[in-house]
Amino acid sequence: MHTTALVLFSGGQDSTTCLAHALARYERVETIAFDYRQRHHIELLARLEVLTQIRQQFPHWAPRMGQDHLLDLAVLGSVSETSLTRDTAFKMEQSGLPNTFVPGRNLLFLTLAAAVAYRRDLQVIVTGVCETDFSGYPDCRDDTMKAMQLALSLGMDKRFLIETPLMWIDKAATWRLAHELGGRALVDLIVEHTHTCYLGERAVRHDWGYGCGHCPACELRERGWQRYVDASAP
Ligand code: ZN
Repeated sequence: MHTTALVLFSGGQDSTTCLAHALARYERVETIAFDYRQRHHIELLARLEVLTQIRQQFPHWAPRMGQDHLLDLAVLGSVSETSLTRDTAFKMEQSGLPNTFVPGRNLLFLTLAAAVAYRRDLQVIVTGVCETDFSGYPDCRDDTMKAMQLALSLGMDKRFLIETPLMWIDKAATWRLAHELGGRALVDLIVEHTHTCYLGERAVRHDWGYGCGHCPACELRERGWQRYVDASAP
């Protein structure tokens, strides 16, 4: 029986939904994020605000929320050329992956998360990776997660469970999942306080939240929101 979890929590729509998933299930839930000099520090600010809002608006979840960990991963910026950390435009590379791809980034995140989970005695590692939507990042695939679960459990001699509640659902279903977990209040919180936009835009408010409306992350979020709203209309 698992009772404790560590959620990879960036402050975006997906990881906030994962956090709610964990809070609905586990007695002690901690959160972790990585500062790798994202072009927009706004993501790291948004995540703290989301944590504050969840504590305030979901008092039955608040006692389950434990430590929040922020690890410095500046080294990522020195090993990869990516539009997430450098001032370059978004494009698709010859490999068929967008240039937001940092090779092995998730492998590194999961390894560090497992090291923290080991130290904090947390059993489940929850991450919002997904095979359904556009990106196709190989380090987000289900097979990769299963391999990592085995490698980390063997390599640290501790049984970890990597849980991926969003693996097989699209963005519309992610909004529906948030509604199932925390009702309209959680959906509203995600719209208002989570950050997804690659360009760090928070001046323009849409129905689905803040963002430039044009980058791949905004387009994905908007399309998902629209399908979610259309499907829930009477
Ligand atoms: Zn955007």
